[in-house]
Amino acid sequence: MEPEPGDVAQLIHQVAVLGGGIAGAAAALRLAQGGLHPVWIAQNRQDTFKPGEHLSAAAIPLLKTLGSDAMLRSEVHRHAHSTYSAWGSDMLVERNAIVHLEGPPIVLDRGAFEDALTAQAVAAGAQRIEQDVGNLRVADGLWHLDTGDNQIKVGFVFDATGRKAIVASKFATRFQADKLSCQYALFTSSALEDPRPVTLIEAEARGWWYMSVLADQRVIVNFYSDADLPGFDNAQLEENAHRTKAISAYLSDYGYRISGDAKRITTNSSWIAPAIGAGWVAIGDASTAFDPLSSHGMTTALWSAIQAADAFVAQDRGKMHAYAENVAKGVEQYLTALYQVYSSEQRWVDRPFWARRAGTYAKTDKVPKAENTF
Ligand SMILES: Cc1cc2nc3c(=O)[nH]c(=O)nc-3n(C[C@H](O)[C@H](O)[C@H](O)COP(=O)(O)OP(=O)(O)OC[C@H]3O[C@@H](n4cnc5c(N)ncnc54)[C@H](O)[C@@H]3O)c2cc1C
Repeated sequence: MEPEPGDVAQLIHQVAVLGGGIAGAAAALRLAQGGLHPVWIAQNRQDTFKPGEHLSAAAIPLLKTLGSDAMLRSEVHRHAHSTYSAWGSDMLVERNAIVHLEGPPIVLDRGAFEDALTAQAVAAGAQRIEQDVGNLRVADGLWHLDTGDNQIKVGFVFDATGRKAIVASKFATRFQADKLSCQYALFTSSALEDPRPVTLIEAEARGWWYMSVLADQRVIVNFYSDADLPGFDNAQLEENAHRTKAISAYLSDYGYRISGDAKRITTNSSWIAPAIGAGWVAIGDASTAFDPLSSHGMTTALWSAIQAADAFVAQDRGKMHAYAENVAKGVEQYLTALYQVYSSEQRWVDRPFWARRAGTYAKTDKVPKAENTF
């Protein structure tokens, strides 16, 4: 019997996806494409700006797998042909010098992108409940999920609740490599000249800066430092952005000023191990949350959602186990690469932010093996 929306409270479901970000949307879509009827518990997105817009070219084949790549052609996104960084020296060098066969990376309108994936998942048959999961417990071999209005019983859950990892963090250990946090604000300009569409990254003694021009010509400015190191208020964020070299020159050339409040958000590198357990799998940031310097969070969200959903649709224990092993391997490779990138900046190794990154990432043994519990 096909579930009707009103029947949700009474039914026992085969599978639920928790969380309405990219990982949740992609998993709900992929499960529905596999012929299942996932319940997708995801609160409506607040209409606020969500940072994290640089979509790596590696995401494009994944979006093709989902049949979602056409959405990148919308004018609300822009191709990121010009990405430069001043890292390890004052010199500004092109960051993505290699030609991407898949196409260039994209600077997304994140809200529009998530809305389009959501619409596709619902059209494919995901049954969306626009609420948060409050309490959850396991009884009689089923998950009992409480959303306030609904008590939902389900056999298997995809935890796509981001860094909160509301299921996975109860049943597996979350590890954290650092305390990275991001302060960000939007900047606007009233100048008539079209700004050059660039992305700039610039290291400094207290951390590093990122600036990118969005398709609507607003500019996002992020300052990355550790959560326990001093942050900025609005005026200080703008003033300190103007003390950089490349980013300051860009903001001044086009007359950009801060608009709205600066916010601070967690961006540390953290991961769950193992990424699967009895009746659950963690995907996206719930399994591995990466430093935004890697530009890989959204790609990993898509990859993990597809891998885990395909394993579930096939009811293939081996595939699900391989997914968890690949997550663990990916964490090790990521930490090694991250260490190499941070240690290539040697100008301020006596300052707290950079001293903390001198050699610690590579020495992790915190990625335990997954039990095959699927
Ligand atoms: C400042 C910043 C810059 C970034 N820059 C980039 C970048 O340039 N490129 C890149 O690829 N990645 C970037 N990232 C990382 C990227 O944003 C994440 O990796 C990506 O959003 C992960 O998607 P997700 O769906 O796993 O998690 P999220 O996007 O965090 O979504 C999780 C969802 O779960 C919901 N949720 C939480 N609790 C519950 C509950 N109890 N019940 C139901 N739902 C719940 C949340 O409301 C949210 O909608 C950046 C991140 C930050 C913070």
